[in-house]
Amino acid sequence: MSQGRIIVVGSSHAGAQLCASLRQEGWSEDIVLIGDEPEPPYHHPPLSKTFLTGHATLDDLLIRAPDFYTKQGITLQTGRVTAIHREAHRITMANGSTLAYSKLALCLGARPRRLTLPGIDLPGVHLLRTLADINAIRADLSVTRHAVILGAGYIGLETAASLRKLGIAVTVLEAAERVLARVTAPVVSEFYARVHREEGVTLRTQCSVSAILGAQRVEGVALTSGEIIAADLVIVGIGVIPNSELAADAGLAVDNGIVINAHAVSSDPDIVAAGDCASFTCPRYGRQMRLESVPNAAEHAKVAAATLCGKTKQISALPWFWSDQYDLKLQIAGLNTGYDAVEVIGDPTTGRSFTCLYFRESRLIAADCINSPQEFMRRKMALTESLLTSASAPNPR
Ligand SMILES: Cc1cc2nc3c(=O)[nH]c(=O)nc-3n(C[C@H](O)[C@H](O)[C@H](O)COP(=O)(O)OP(=O)(O)OC[C@H]3O[C@@H](n4cnc5c(N)ncnc54)[C@H](O)[C@@H]3O)c2cc1C
Repeated sequence: MSQGRIIVVGSSHAGAQLCASLRQEGWSEDIVLIGDEPEPPYHHPPLSKTFLTGHATLDDLLIRAPDFYTKQGITLQTGRVTAIHREAHRITMANGSTLAYSKLALCLGARPRRLTLPGIDLPGVHLLRTLADINAIRADLSVTRHAVILGAGYIGLETAASLRKLGIAVTVLEAAERVLARVTAPVVSEFYARVHREEGVTLRTQCSVSAILGAQRVEGVALTSGEIIAADLVIVGIGVIPNSELAADAGLAVDNGIVINAHAVSSDPDIVAAGDCASFTCPRYGRQMRLESVPNAAEHAKVAAATLCGKTKQISALPWFWSDQYDLKLQIAGLNTGYDAVEVIGDPTTGRSFTCLYFRESRLIAADCINSPQEFMRRKMALTESLLTSASAPNPR
């Protein structure tokens, strides 16, 4: 029986993995991978780390060797998909061309949240998501003595660490009362704030920006308090929003991302979705969520590929994440949302290695492990086992 053509839209972590897994799972006919960035799929995590500091090249970033796609019979196509015609099983590209599919995979990712502020479009103000964004930042580094980063989430703090490595003065401005407020316990926030200050970063929390200042290019950042901070580079890192409009316009169910079931299938049985753009019910935590991480994109993609090849695989992996800043490797096992107690192993006030365990109703639900790879492996394994069982099962602490 003819399988027909699969079109995968979005050529990054999820899209590349989905194509590779399709071949492994036995899809023998056409696979077309369409992405609107000019480069073949590349790793994003190094962008704010080794690529920003100049310790990695584009070749180092590529997810697969350039000849992988040809060898696997995967057609790489550059362009933007602008519409999905579900009844006709066709997509339209920005250049007006159309292409038929038998199955469609949406790996559309997410884009940086933008700020609407006077001066936000001045040269020297950057977002940070793509290789093009980093190349633009790197092009400005020769004239940068003082950088201001808006947002103290993982991306903002990783960027601060990288710019400090390059000897650039860095100020991080955060609206919340602590860094990493959305994602970690206060003890972890305090640890990161201490390390960044030790490394020379000026960290300001609970501050709100009113304008970006400058004549020809950025010269400063104005706070609502009236204070002005000098800056010749500004990087905005205040989170991302899912690219789900293409799906919504086609009438697919969307709720903080493209809604998929346990098999990565959207509300249309011929369309799957994976990665940052997908909203799914995590079986281990029993609630709908959207995650932004490479392991999550890979997990969705593998499940989606199996589903498209007629196999029954379910999204089941324990969510995990990592972040590298200075000499710190943070590895996170599980999700801490809804925690009601923490336990700290080690001393976060002086050293650079400790673990923060998160509990809900005495059950371990997540662990932040800083420079503690063995603790991470131990906790990840324990969580993988315990969170699959019923809520009443014993939980190793
Ligand atoms: C600087 C940075 C550092 C990070 N560090 C880490 C880390 O340390 N650990 C970690 O786990 N995760 C990290 N992440 C997050 C991780 O990179 C993302 O979770 C991952 O890239 C998600 O992959 P994705 O394929 O779902 O989406 P994306 O990587 O966002 O890719 C989606 C692709 O689809 C394209 N696209 C969208 N719409 C269309 C369209 N209509 N037509 C054609 N193409 C389209 C986009 O341009 C993009 O190329 C980091 C991200 C960034 C930006």
